[in-house]
Amino acid sequence: MGSPTRKPTQSNSRLTADAYADGILKHDRIILSRAITLAESRLKSDQLLAEALIQKILAHTGKSIRIGITGIPGVGKSTFIEAFGKHLTAIGKKLAVLAIDPSSQRTKGSILGDKTRMDELARDENAFIRPTSAASALGGVADKTRETILLCEAAGFDVIIVETVGVGQSEISVRNMVDFFLLLLLGGAGDELQGIKKGIMEMADGVVITKADGDNKKRAKQAQADYQHALHFFPPSDSGWIPKVLISSAIEHRGMNEVWQMVDDFKTFTKAKGFFEHQRTEQNIEWFHSSIEQLLKREIMQSDSLRKKMETYERSVVNKSMTPGSASRKLVEDFFSSLPKH
Ligand code: GDP
Repeated sequence: MGSPTRKPTQSNSRLTADAYADGILKHDRIILSRAITLAESRLKSDQLLAEALIQKILAHTGKSIRIGITGIPGVGKSTFIEAFGKHLTAIGKKLAVLAIDPSSQRTKGSILGDKTRMDELARDENAFIRPTSAASALGGVADKTRETILLCEAAGFDVIIVETVGVGQSEISVRNMVDFFLLLLLGGAGDELQGIKKGIMEMADGVVITKADGDNKKRAKQAQADYQHALHFFPPSDSGWIPKVLISSAIEHRGMNEVWQMVDDFKTFTKAKGFFEHQRTEQNIEWFHSSIEQLLKREIMQSDSLRKKMETYERSVVNKSMTPGSASRKLVEDFFSSLPKH
């Protein structure tokens, strides 16, 4: 593999696939960051380069535990991840945190804003934090997070946390790319599931009641008992794993080892049953299917005339002169007729 030489045909900040792979396998964070930027790029040439890169590093992926963490804004996600992350690096783990920000999709602003999140963890040499904007007109939420996970694994990170805000669609995307899905909840915030839909509870492999300190501790313990009880009424999961409900205080650094123990127990349990690998295979199939959709959509959006047609059909959907079903069928037909005839 060569040194990071530039390839004249690419945009001038691009390296060759070999140079990216070489840097990543040497655990070079700057190259890793640049490779993630490449994978997130909408340019077709970048996409092809990123694909070539992923192919090269594939044999070095898959060895991490991938943890999804979700919860409503204010539940304490960033504080929890910082405390949990510090615990993990203290026990010798190398941690990558990929924070998905779905709000940027609509508002173009970031919920992460200017607030410096996890700044202590950010300074930890065994941690790597990467915010991922979900600002995407094309794919689903942060459709490149899967590639980013693989790149981080090849760069030697053995725990990958994917953080998302508990607002719906992004949970499902994240659930489909992680091994363990952790839901953070507040204690004493009312009996209803705090606007968290039952579906999200059902996706969780573990629940943590946050901020179990001071006056809140009693309420947190009560919530722990209530949620553990509620989980009994949920259908059993495919893995046979029974989700656990724990309590934690990120500011007092309590409960972190218990949470890690739960994740580790889950891994042991599901590996013994073959579920761990089975779930990853299923996720790859799902990735394949959603990639087909995204590639088709990207091809359509790259054509000016098709994009215009799309806008026209969208107006027809708005004024109800076309159903979404027939509008999309028409667009796909337009796409096929736009292809060169052989
Ligand atoms: P996010 O929006 O889910 O990322 O939540 P943050 O981590 O930004 O936390 C929201 C608020 O809750 C902040 O004011 C934190 O200081 C506070 N908070 C977070 N974790 C704890 C905790 O363990 N105990 C207490 N008492 N407050 C906390």
